[in-house]
Amino acid sequence: NIKIERTTILVIGAGPGGYSAAFRCSDLGMKTMIVERYKNLGGVCLNVGCIPSKSLLHIAKLINDNKNLSKYGILQQNPQIQLDLNKISLWKNNIINQLSRNLYSLAKAHNVNIVHGLGKFIDNHTLQIFNDQQEETLQVIFDYAIIAAGSHTLSFSSLPNDKRIWHSTDALQLQSIPETLLIVGAGAIGLEMATIYHALGSKVEILESQNKIIPILDQDIIKILSKNLYNKNIDCIINTKINSIYTQTDGIYVVMENNSDTTIKNTNKYDAILIAIGRAPNSNILNLQNAGINVNKYGFISVDKQMRTNVPNIFAIGDIIGHPMLAHKSIHEGYVAAEVISGKNYYFDAKIIPSIIYTNPEIAWVGYTEQTAQQTEEQIQYKSVALPWTALGKAITSNCTEGITKLVFDKTTHKIIGGSVIGTNASEIIGEIALAIEMGCDVEDITLTIHAHPTLHESIELAASIYYKSIKD
Ligand code: FAD
Repeated sequence: NIKIERTTILVIGAGPGGYSAAFRCSDLGMKTMIVERYKNLGGVCLNVGCIPSKSLLHIAKLINDNKNLSKYGILQQNPQIQLDLNKISLWKNNIINQLSRNLYSLAKAHNVNIVHGLGKFIDNHTLQIFNDQQEETLQVIFDYAIIAAGSHTLSFSSLPNDKRIWHSTDALQLQSIPETLLIVGAGAIGLEMATIYHALGSKVEILESQNKIIPILDQDIIKILSKNLYNKNIDCIINTKINSIYTQTDGIYVVMENNSDTTIKNTNKYDAILIAIGRAPNSNILNLQNAGINVNKYGFISVDKQMRTNVPNIFAIGDIIGHPMLAHKSIHEGYVAAEVISGKNYYFDAKIIPSIIYTNPEIAWVGYTEQTAQQTEEQIQYKSVALPWTALGKAITSNCTEGITKLVFDKTTHKIIGGSVIGTNASEIIGEIALAIEMGCDVEDITLTIHAHPTLHESIELAASIYYKSIKD
């Protein structure tokens, strides 16, 4: 007695990719349904990713700002702060719930039907849906499907079962502040968690198997980041990986080995460890093979530039199709899939996708760095210019001179092809650079645009002027 429903578009997953695709499909006049296994809409990003991490990073910033008040002559009677973890969690959870409720209202406003349950393909036009008791409750017959089922945290295969071994979702629960915390993986998530737990009072160490933190970053940005971590007493152990982990009542013992020659380096004890080594696609719970959908050797669904899988009526977007795993990439891909299904000749043809790490100071980059420009097959002739924030009035008045804005120009066309920023609000500043690259702006376009003074984004105009002067002289 399984109910059967029909829809034109079936979106699997209500993360940023899924809900964006669904809203656009419905706006384009197609009958649309979303299937989501969890109660809350919003996916990883809203529930256990972007939003809770940025809420806690805001708390970290408040704590750090509070430490420096006496420098400005703002004196407090009792500068000692105390943390009420329950209240902080409540504040964070209220944000999540508010945004999730907003999504329900938006779904209603866009006339998108939401069904809760775990979806699995029966064939390329039918999805079966299971409730929490693993009972099949519904079958949905669809014309088109958009798979936006996201990703999950990667882990090591033989980890001891211990509550002091965390993944990002555990770390965001804020159950305790360990005195010592090892973060395994110096990627965006690892570095953001290091920023949060350092501010909350943990002694943080970061373990990274590669010989650099985020090797794709510009070298000058890495230098400032490394100095910042050093000044905060956050040790970054590079070129090192885990040999084994064992737990005792007094702590978690981590045996570390050299990444290059696997010799044992040392055994350190921590109160907690956080595994932040990456994410893997949720492709194995969908019975993709029943619909004939191909995945690559890592489990990512293969798609073309229109987000179409090898099965013509099935599309896939977001983390499940591969890197970079970013919410804004998923959203953009969702729009592309919707437009293509509605019959328009759309493609994913964005030149660039901005990346941000919300450390303190923030790091943001887009397009080429000097290093990636050097590595291109076309051997781009480039010129890079950097503007240190010690030259910026706004940075000096706001006591945030620890930063640079670095731009990369094509020496033949003088067009901007990349930008990296480290500093306060780098996440906001990068937007202008992204727009300039996407619109094909050259250095004159940037220098002739009046940037307000004093601002941090003025650094873009000032950096561009350095290059402009060099080509005019
Ligand atoms: P998801 O958000 O993963 O959503 C997929 C949805 O599909 C989920 O709700 C899942 O329950 C559902 N689902 C899966 N399988 C099924 C099924 N079979 N049936 C029904 N439903 C199913 N990105 C940024 O851009 N900026 C950030 O600041 C940022 N911070 C992050 C911080 C952390 C700690 C983490 C973990 C991630 C962060 N990310 C960030 C990454 C970002 O969260 C993801 O890139 C984004 O959520 C991907 O969106 P998506 O729609 O592809 O998938």
